[in-house]
Amino acid sequence: MAKSDPPRIAILGAGPIGLEAGLYARQLKLPFTIFEQGRIGEHMWRWGHVKLFSSFGMNATPLGRKAIASTKLDHPFPADDACISGREHVERYLLPLADVVRDRIKTETRVISIARAGFFKHEGAGDPDRGKQPFLLLARERNQDRVEQADIVIDCTGTYSHHRWLGPGGIPALGETQAEPHIAYGLVDVLGDAKKDFANKSVLLVGTGFSAATTASSLAKLGLDHQSTWTTWIGRAAHSQPLRRIPNDPLRERDRLAAHANNLATRTDDNVDFLASTTVEAIELLANNQSFKVTLRSAGSKKTMEFEKIIANVGYTPDRALYRELQIHECYATFGPMKLAALLAGTKAHDCMKEVGHGPESLKNPEPSFYVLGAKSYGRNSHFLLRIGFEQVRDVFTLITGDAKLDLYK
Ligand SMILES: Cc1cc2nc3c(=O)[nH]c(=O)nc-3n(C[C@H](O)[C@H](O)[C@H](O)COP(=O)(O)OP(=O)(O)OC[C@H]3O[C@@H](n4cnc5c(N)ncnc54)[C@H](O)[C@@H]3O)c2cc1C
Repeated sequence: MAKSDPPRIAILGAGPIGLEAGLYARQLKLPFTIFEQGRIGEHMWRWGHVKLFSSFGMNATPLGRKAIASTKLDHPFPADDACISGREHVERYLLPLADVVRDRIKTETRVISIARAGFFKHEGAGDPDRGKQPFLLLARERNQDRVEQADIVIDCTGTYSHHRWLGPGGIPALGETQAEPHIAYGLVDVLGDAKKDFANKSVLLVGTGFSAATTASSLAKLGLDHQSTWTTWIGRAAHSQPLRRIPNDPLRERDRLAAHANNLATRTDDNVDFLASTTVEAIELLANNQSFKVTLRSAGSKKTMEFEKIIANVGYTPDRALYRELQIHECYATFGPMKLAALLAGTKAHDCMKEVGHGPESLKNPEPSFYVLGAKSYGRNSHFLLRIGFEQVRDVFTLITGDAKLDLYK
């Protein structure tokens, strides 16, 4: 087996960053394939009812706009200052963008595992011969497995498909793995598709990030029309206001949400009850599969409550199984690739708007020609923004082409 010239690029994930990488490769006339486990923009569809905090101007690139405009002359782009929902972003930007590279996208095709031909994980560390062999990708398309080859792999698979757990220190709570199929992990559209499942139900909401704030606001709204809806919202920290607001937050939508959620948590006249210093210890799925008995530890003491629904907004984690057989140096704290993670740890910014790109070197790791980009490159650090991902795409192609000045965004 040998590498080919020009190198074949496998891009994993047709989210915003995978598509952008595909577009870049097309402009440079490099052969590429995008493997997508579901639909174009699958993860964004899943949380599509939620509005993005960053405005459209930050979430699109000059290259993407130009490519779309060249195929659809009068394409109506959203205004630069518009904050649109995930669903609208897919419909108005990602799908038209995907049309430009459609012939190279394999949807419903999940990459399961990747290896280096002729080398086990523990072999050839630092040996240039390892980098001369192609990658082997085990891909599954509608239950049929096959092996594909590539010379360069760009992993843009995000983190949204892999939730974290509810229990102490991040392990599953007792009984959680058995109850998992009945728990809603992620952003549930309780005012839309899932309304009938949540109206007039008792709900346990776990988490104190912006996703939990979005869910709490939606459940409070649901309670206005369906007055038996009752939400018990819990957070680990001792603050009575769950959301940490960013002073002079430049993202107005984000600050509005934080203020509203904090207000819901502290008011006593609505259908949301917020408990600080509270964690989940055990979950028992009751016999009818319609409700849960949950043991909570609240300010040092245990109490048991029953809920009809549980929504876990406790974050996501990268799928590391994909590259288990490769030589990837991961951060022990975030599971992001180590070089970038070390630089991110140094910034200590609480506001993702303060994040900057860290240049091509930050994307390299011991496995030659394997790169992690997009939300996954931040591991469990939730400060990733699309505009950083676009910079990463530009940077990775300077490495691939060996042209340090290459910038298709100019
Ligand atoms: C609710 C929410 C709101 C956000 N709001 C903003 C915002 O306002 N502004 C901003 O800049 N960022 C925001 N982000 C952060 C980030 O920009 C998004 O998560 C963005 O979707 C990341 O793009 P991505 O391409 O890296 O990954 P994703 O969009 O997660 O795409 C990954 C793709 O890979 C596919 N995939 C996964 N595993 C495999 C596999 N094994 N094989 C093949 N395909 C696979 C998935 O189906 C998916 O389509 C938000 C995130 C969330 C969750």
